[in-house]
Amino acid sequence: MSIWPSIKTITSDVASRKSSARDMVEKSLQIIEEHGEFKAIISLTKERALKRAEEIDARIAVGENVGRLAGVPFIAKDNFLVFGAETTAASNILRGFNAPYQSSAIERLEAEGAICVAKANLDAFAHGSSTENSDYMTTKNPHDAERVPGGSSGGSAAAVALSMAPFSLGTDTGGSIRLPASFCGVVGLKPTYGLVSRSGVVAMASSTDVIGPIASTVEDAALVLECMAGKDELDGTTIERDSQDYSDLKPVDLTGIKFGIVKEFFGSGVDESVRGSIDQAVNQIKSAGGEIVEVSIPSIDLALAVYYILCPAEVSSNLSRYDGQRYGHSDRDAVNLEESYAKSRSVGFGNEAKRRIMIGAYVLSSGYYDAYYQRAQLVRTKLINEFNKALESCDVLVGPTAPVQAFKIGENIADPLAMYLIDIMTVSANLVGIPAISIPVKSNNSLPVGLQLMVQQKQDKMLLEVAKKVEEVAA
Ligand code: GLN
Repeated sequence: MSIWPSIKTITSDVASRKSSARDMVEKSLQIIEEHGEFKAIISLTKERALKRAEEIDARIAVGENVGRLAGVPFIAKDNFLVFGAETTAASNILRGFNAPYQSSAIERLEAEGAICVAKANLDAFAHGSSTENSDYMTTKNPHDAERVPGGSSGGSAAAVALSMAPFSLGTDTGGSIRLPASFCGVVGLKPTYGLVSRSGVVAMASSTDVIGPIASTVEDAALVLECMAGKDELDGTTIERDSQDYSDLKPVDLTGIKFGIVKEFFGSGVDESVRGSIDQAVNQIKSAGGEIVEVSIPSIDLALAVYYILCPAEVSSNLSRYDGQRYGHSDRDAVNLEESYAKSRSVGFGNEAKRRIMIGAYVLSSGYYDAYYQRAQLVRTKLINEFNKALESCDVLVGPTAPVQAFKIGENIADPLAMYLIDIMTVSANLVGIPAISIPVKSNNSLPVGLQLMVQQKQDKMLLEVAKKVEEVAA
């Protein structure tokens, strides 16, 4: 349970001067300090945050309307370019990199009065599912400090679960918002591909990278989306908004809504504890009037393989810009440029980044391109067609967010394949580009379980409305 009231309450209290932006920022910084042992935070943007809070309070004092997030502190994953702190993406190669500009998502939130107070830990370059691939530290799960928070936005999810701020930002390339939200017991929204600008966010795999909020409630996540969504001339893949107001969630009656239970998500790899909670949630949806049908999307069984070909291919291309000359770490002992590239990269990149660069370069190389990259693209198209068909026969697809609950730190680290398997339920939404959300549902033990809902592209508003109702009946 978050100690923060809803974001709407915070902004109305700040706007009516019942509290101040400065109080909110100080409270957030204090909670961050109190929970330092969870290692959720890489750096603070304290000075800038306090200065912004004072400016906001001063504007309110003269009667100005500051915006829909006036005085709300938040935490950004450390792959967002934010003024006032380094942007490291939790990698050694970007250590010391100060962004010369700020990401569009942060700009938009700031324009509404929100205040970034800190940068959260992640798997380096967002490659991972546990934050154990961070070059700096492993974040601990707030529900059990011996376990991982999920990844790659593990610091962002743990921060919200620990009430360090009312919301945080994450990125989701193959599940990195939803998986940690599920492991930490908070709400994680991956919007439709292109709905939120990626400008100023360290690129992982550009054809699936998406930005979204992590919050305590669906309502709060919706308000954050509302303040970020829409076309941005700095990101050519952004799309027009399809809703006037994503946060104006109308109450929905589940009667008449068809929930498609995705058969492939209930196979043998799913833990009993997860299965039990999800079954229970589905029963509650049914009791509240929802129509439950079973759907099959056979290519889901191939989605993980497709993702782990296409993603490293894009990663190997995106990481080529870190050559030790333009950003962050640069080897000073090299005798020529070639050696400088090699030495800067071999020291600056961790094992997982190197693994992905090698796999990516391999699947793109001549002689293997047709067998791997091109075939994976064909299966991706098949997957998109199957999802579209399934979403014609029902309104919302339902399943667990992950096959397991938070696992022990170290449990999967020596086995990359076991780690990749954790993403089996999240990667499809990225490959297809549809919006998906993870919401906490009743768990039968002390660790959280996330329920995943997915809808057609550009139905983000409907997804949020349904999720809000499901949150009411199944949490
Ligand atoms: N766990 C997935 C991976 O390692 C997803 C990462 C992400 O969404 N950033 O690729």
